[in-house]
Formats: sequence, structure tokens, C-alpha cells
Amino acid sequence: MSSRKEVKPCILKALTMGNQGDMRSRIGHMIVSELRGLHNSSATIVGCMSTWNLRNSPVLPKDELKRIISMAQGNEYNYGCLSEAIRNLLGCIDPDTCQYYQKYHKQSVKENTETEKGGENEEEKLSVPSDQKSYKTPGS
Ligand SMILES: [Zn+2]
Repeated sequence: MSSRKEVKPCILKALTMGNQGDMRSRIGHMIVSELRGLHNSSATIVGCMSTWNLRNSPVLPKDELKRIISMAQGNEYNYGCLSEAIRNLLGCIDPDTCQYYQKYHKQSVKENTETEKGGENEEEKLSVPSDQKSYKTPGS
């Protein structure tokens, strides 16, 4: 199965900078969803999130962090950057200039229209999660 392997730039920014204020939990949820969508192990996710939390101000209580991680791992929701609310929250780059968006989104659009460029190997198209489980559950 081919899927993207990079963390979105906006998520990466949140992860490396930490977050402030009331939206930390919500953003934390998005980060976990992203990491989970990229098939990271639970241990990796917990590690990333603990590091992220150290950069938050104020840091989230351990229990809250645990809650966010298990909640986001329990669903299959994957946040996109096209919702205005999410874009504002994460400070997304404009889709026209976001390299991530250009690379993954445009690629899947191209695949669907499929006119120019035959023969090029497009391994890294964005796989949009549907209802069916398309990723492995950790430990299976
Ligand atoms: Zn974004």
C-alpha cells in the first residue's frame, strides 16, 4: 500500500513549537491523528506528544495528554487543512504555496484526470481515509 510519509508542515510546526492556550488539546488531537495516520507506533506517538507537551505553555497535565492520545488513536479521523477553522488553528500555509499540499493534493487530482504524463510513477499520492480500515492497528 502506498501512502504519504511526511507530516504536514502545519502539524510539524505545532509539534516543534508547541502551543499556547485553550486550543492545545484540540491541536494535540490533530497531531496524534496525523501521526497515527502515518502509521507511527503508539510508543512513537507517546514520545512525540510528551516532547510536544514540554513546549506548550502551560503544559497539559499528564492525564489530559494521555486522554488526548488514546482518544485520537481510537478514531480514524484525519484532519485536512481545507477547513477554515483548522487552517486558522494550525496557521496553515496557503494551499497555493504549501509544498505539501502541492505535492500530495495536486497529485491525486492529476491522477483522477489522468491526461498528461503517462508512465510516471506516482507512488506518493495522498490516500484519503474512507470508512474502511486501510491502516494497521498497532499490535496486530
Ligand atoms: Zn495545514
